[in-house]
Amino acid sequence: TQATGAATLQHRFATALPELALPAQAAEAPDPRLVVLNEPLARELGLDPDRLRSPEGLGLLTGTVVPEGATPVAQAYAGHQFGGFAQLGDGRALLMGELVDADGRLRDLHLKGSGRTRFARGGDGLAALGPMLREYVVSEAMHALGIPTTRSLAVVTTGRGVHRETVLPGAVLARVASSHLRVGTVQLARATDDVDLLWRVADHAIERHHPEAAAEPNPCLALYRAVIAAQAGLVARWMLVGFVHGVMNTDNVTLSGETIDYGPCAFLDAFDPHTVFSSIDEGGRYAYGNQPPIAEWNLARLGEALLPLLADEQDRAVEIATEALGSFREEYAASYAAGLRAKLGLTACDDLEAIERLGTSVFELLQASHVDHTSFWRHLATAARGDSEPVRGVFLDLAGIDAWLEDWRALCPDADAMDRVNPVHIPRNHLVEEALDAATAGDLAPLERLLEAVRSPFDPVPGLERYAEPAPADFGRYRTFC
Ligand code: AMP
Ligand code: MG
Ligand code: MG
Repeated sequence: TQATGAATLQHRFATALPELALPAQAAEAPDPRLVVLNEPLARELGLDPDRLRSPEGLGLLTGTVVPEGATPVAQAYAGHQFGGFAQLGDGRALLMGELVDADGRLRDLHLKGSGRTRFARGGDGLAALGPMLREYVVSEAMHALGIPTTRSLAVVTTGRGVHRETVLPGAVLARVASSHLRVGTVQLARATDDVDLLWRVADHAIERHHPEAAAEPNPCLALYRAVIAAQAGLVARWMLVGFVHGVMNTDNVTLSGETIDYGPCAFLDAFDPHTVFSSIDEGGRYAYGNQPPIAEWNLARLGEALLPLLADEQDRAVEIATEALGSFREEYAASYAAGLRAKLGLTACDDLEAIERLGTSVFELLQASHVDHTSFWRHLATAARGDSEPVRGVFLDLAGIDAWLEDWRALCPDADAMDRVNPVHIPRNHLVEEALDAATAGDLAPLERLLEAVRSPFDPVPGLERYAEPAPADFGRYRTFC
């Protein structure tokens, strides 16, 4: 408790699922230095920001100081990676334990980049500063946008160099999640053929995320349905905001419905469903437009893993799982349609067919004219206020957008409501790169400005006008590496 202040780290996961929790130790951090600390989140968790800045606090944030009674573990899980099944686990991460937050909710305190574990395979167990800051910035942006996500508590450089293409400063990200249970956690339990373990994983997930399922006649079916609904809603939010996760392997799909693993993610600049940023996604499996069917595929893998818990007879279990999975498309379509209606400023309009037609055609127009996705929606609100020139200015097909605007205006869009759902600030790729490069070279000012912008997603910030602008024309094709 020296390092955490009053807060006590629990070890519920390790106690409930010891088969999936390997006690592990962080690598030494020769010269720990705090790069960024999320003070509001620290307070929410009952952690004193001043104490986190102290040597003991930096020890906690790098895993080198283990509070009394805590049991850091590497979590075992499996996963379909680009379609192929593999047994995995935290190769460079540690679950320090769980904290009860100010609202009484249990939250994982987890470290990434804290050294090799038994799951590290060929990896060095380490993380470079840039990618940990990418996760920090993008997860904060997602949270500000109201999209369920793991949170970032701090990034601390270790004083150790990490060998990538060059030698980069090493860092540890302290991450907070409502849990790190994944589809792959259930898959691993299923792969062990230990049905008791599978039951305990399901019970733990129900207790932590979907407690209402416990009272249902078939609690594991209710769990499955709840995860389907949470993921359908989540992926709809990604699509509406133009987020490309980039590595939707089943080990990166949470049972809570929080976005996790910000390795190769990025936001759309120009709207195009084929957009792929990740350098390792050669086939485009995780392209922007593929995300909904991939989410459904991942949830089918969850259903398979849960089969022994759904019914005594295999055939009956398959029937139940198939029927449940059928709800994904409905849930997704409903979430997406509601979100699109709001983006178009048409929540007061009841002509749902007209709204759907407008939605389909506007994306065709955006794609054909390579229009910047984020700024389009703000220009559209300006058009709802009577000035169509900003939006007309970004289209090549003027006749097309003029005809579309006429149909849309006839439905009486609400400009102010549009500005409450269409962000002016997202973590734009060129700004993220600029901030990460500067931070890696020792200058934190661009990172701090970018954080200020993305924490105000819907309101312009005086002095940060350039953070609302599309990428410069010479920015070129964006590639991410994880
Ligand atoms: P990801 O693609 O980030 O979901 O990671 C897939 C797996 O690779 C996980 O089990 C990670 O813990 C592991 N991993 C990624 N990078 C490293 C690294 N540098 N050292 C050890 N394990 C790693
Ligand atoms: Mg991962
Ligand atoms: Mg990753």
